[in-house]
Amino acid sequence: MSIELRELYQEVILDHNRHPRNRGKLEEATGYAEGHNPLCGDNIQVYLHTNGGLVEAVSFEGSGCAISTASASMMTEAVKGKTLEQVEAMFKEFQSMVTETGHAEEHPELGDLEVLGGVREYPVRIKCATLPWHTLKAALVGEADKVSTE
Ligand code: ZN
Repeated sequence: MSIELRELYQEVILDHNRHPRNRGKLEEATGYAEGHNPLCGDNIQVYLHTNGGLVEAVSFEGSGCAISTASASMMTEAVKGKTLEQVEAMFKEFQSMVTETGHAEEHPELGDLEVLGGVREYPVRIKCATLPWHTLKAALVGEADKVSTE
């Protein structure tokens, strides 16, 4: 394992990677999208069920590295029960957390996702962390096309 991975593999990430939350297909999904990160080989499918502007259920499947799996797992926990506006705000907050250096270190609204802020130091890992979010967004707007980070 490389040094950069070891530094990133914090306990929360490891736990979500070993025991992903909300993994599996969703029956009666209202939205679905697939995402692919060719740089790392991460593949993800996101299923969601929205009702009246609320994310009632969300799940994911796929195979990917620990970062993408943990990010997907944490994301599903974070957006469940949220309004579409709240999800959009979280997406933006997460995106800026992992891409902007010097960004505020406190992200209480992101919960566990905050531990992924460390990927900021490793550009090649940023796409692993953001892939689930891009895929979720595609599922929300009903884009059937496969999402790619490239
Ligand atoms: Zn990856």
